[in-house]
Amino acid sequence: MTITLITGANKGIGYETARQLLAAGHVVYVGARDADRGEKAAAALGARFVQLDVTDDASVRDALRKIEEEEGRLDVLVNNAGILAEGPIDGPAALKAFDTNAVGIVRVTEAALPLLRGSSNPVVVNVSSSAGSFWAVTNPDRLESTLPLPLYSASKAAATMLTVQYAKAHPGIKFNAVEPGPTATDMTAAFGIGREPEASARVVVRLATLGADGPTGTFQDENGELPW
Ligand code: NAP
Repeated sequence: MTITLITGANKGIGYETARQLLAAGHVVYVGARDADRGEKAAAALGARFVQLDVTDDASVRDALRKIEEEEGRLDVLVNNAGILAEGPIDGPAALKAFDTNAVGIVRVTEAALPLLRGSSNPVVVNVSSSAGSFWAVTNPDRLESTLPLPLYSASKAAATMLTVQYAKAHPGIKFNAVEPGPTATDMTAAFGIGREPEASARVVVRLATLGADGPTGTFQDENGELPW
């Protein structure tokens, strides 16, 4: 049995990733900050629910403690929760963007490390974004170079760097960052862009189901490795 935790899995790409990993036979914990939304999503999927706000240390600690009590280990962690952080730029907005998109990865990963060490094939997928790629945002041929989302891009650059640093620090655990592809979710609704979450979740699932000889410390989209 593969035990999997997905943060921000009550909707969007996280929800669809949960659906696909359940179909692949995983025991999936749907992490959601709102108990009502999370319980409904988990019930609809046939998954387990765990309350988990990535910006709240106590919530993260309690969520991983619950999984430890129930399962004794964790095989796959998908750090998916994220916010777009659009709108006026100021200190509180920047802190919120980084708290959710970057510090959230640190909180959940640090709390999960002891459980991941109990797995025979531990895997972490950080759902980052090509909007956080220096290569993409400086490339006039790429849509990312036109996006006015400095806080989102900077916090996702941090998410990708955290992936590389965690991979270096923990060679026994695979850490990869993923750009899922432009997806029509609540996050992108204002832009009216993107494909169905099914296709994007497949990119996340591919990295969440790596074998023991899979890569670590990479940044990938559906076509393979992306430049930083
Ligand atoms: P979404 O539908 O808005 O889903 C975001 C999820 O994150 C929701 O479940 C949300 O929960 C959760 N979340 C936000 N803040 C949280 C917190 N503090 N604690 C726990 N959960 C929190 O967006 P999505 O498009 O599926 O995004 C999923 C991931 O893909 C994000 O990391 C995003 O940056 C990344 N991504 C998306 C696209 C795209 O085109 N959509 C492209 C590249 C990367 P609530 O329901 O409670 O708000």
